[in-house]
Amino acid sequence: MQLVEVKKKNFSDYLQFIDTETMDELAFLVQKLKNKKIAMISATAYGGGVAEKMHSLVPLMQDLGLQVDWWVILGHDEFYGVTKTFHNRMQGQEGKLTPEQKEIYRRYNQTNAAHMQGWPYDIFVIHDPQPAALIAYREKREHENWLWRCHIDTSTANKDCWDFLYQYTKLYNAVIFTMKDYILGDYFEKADIITPSIDPLSLKNIALDKEKAEAIISRFGIDPLRPLICQVSRFDPWKDPLGVIDVYKIVKKEFPSVQLALVGSMATDDPEGWDYLYNTLRRAGEDYDIKVITNFNGISDLEVNAFQTVSDIILQKSLREGFGLTVAEGLWKGTPVIGGNVGGIKLQIEDGVTGYLVETVEECAEKTLTLLRNPLLAAEMKDAGREKVKKEFLVTGNILHYLRLFRRLVQPAF
Ligand code: UDP
Repeated sequence: MQLVEVKKKNFSDYLQFIDTETMDELAFLVQKLKNKKIAMISATAYGGGVAEKMHSLVPLMQDLGLQVDWWVILGHDEFYGVTKTFHNRMQGQEGKLTPEQKEIYRRYNQTNAAHMQGWPYDIFVIHDPQPAALIAYREKREHENWLWRCHIDTSTANKDCWDFLYQYTKLYNAVIFTMKDYILGDYFEKADIITPSIDPLSLKNIALDKEKAEAIISRFGIDPLRPLICQVSRFDPWKDPLGVIDVYKIVKKEFPSVQLALVGSMATDDPEGWDYLYNTLRRAGEDYDIKVITNFNGISDLEVNAFQTVSDIILQKSLREGFGLTVAEGLWKGTPVIGGNVGGIKLQIEDGVTGYLVETVEECAEKTLTLLRNPLLAAEMKDAGREKVKKEFLVTGNILHYLRLFRRLVQPAF
């Protein structure tokens, strides 16, 4: 297990995003929880939405006066290969786990749990399936509360995989999903619902001057004077980057000057990512108006921000999506987002108001063309998108939801 060092953040900078009632409730909850030690445990400190959220949640909770640490479990390729299969199966892929896969999963959880002897925490928040079995290998103490936080779209979960995981998740004091549709009735009668959030003051989301943003994307060979569509996502079949290229090819027929940027960092716990990156490059072929950009080309938070700020349209053409932070990130910057009509994307995009929800490549191309033909329509969507994120998907609200749940667990009588 490795402790993740997070950059300090000041909660006072965030007061502009909350009302006094919320601040009073937060202060009250912090007072109740300040003597409790909290451990967040996830699979990776870099790449993907979970890591993104933790880099804001943890330092802000710390600055509020809570004792929170963030740990990542240690693993090797064989473990990440297995847990990527879990991820795919939980999102509906067919197949059965093999005895060898189950053995690898258990072994890494057992080894990581051995590092937890003597840990002083009162609340454990375990993120996603990778570390879910830690609970089985550590002698749970009387005062401990364990929460399993699932970030995945489990609305069509593979039963074989769920049955295996359920032997662990049923041991938890509480489970948290992103949407009601993800709670499988046969497994959990009751679960908490917490929607994820973005950090409005992180380098990724802070307001960027348009000229500065244009200068940044120019470094990647983008012409800021020509239309740009962009998808920011890991190279993963569920994110459908190949479908995005097909969309672009249709749009290109009417708008020959259009450019496509596929921006995707490679997560440390996603061994499939490389294969899918190569598939994407093959589909892009020799079209130089398609830019495939990864963290190896020097893309980090500021650059992602610039792409989301400058693009005419953000796509998130996922086939399954737990939440899709990239949608909230795009909307926050006032850029219309066209997203797959799945999972958490449906929570964020109001069809026709903040963007469009689409089912197919053809529909996605049609909506992209609608927006490119009607810049005024795109401009109208700007305020609606930002307002929606401000009300529902900022980190301040997310912290409040977590603290309410923590308090309920440690003081059930209240
Ligand atoms: N992201 C990034 N650089 C990239 C690609 C993605 O920083 O090249 C970030 C993206 O901005 C978002 C997160 O990774 O904050 C992805 O979260 P999301 O919920 O969209 O998808 P996940 O990867 O968790 O499935």
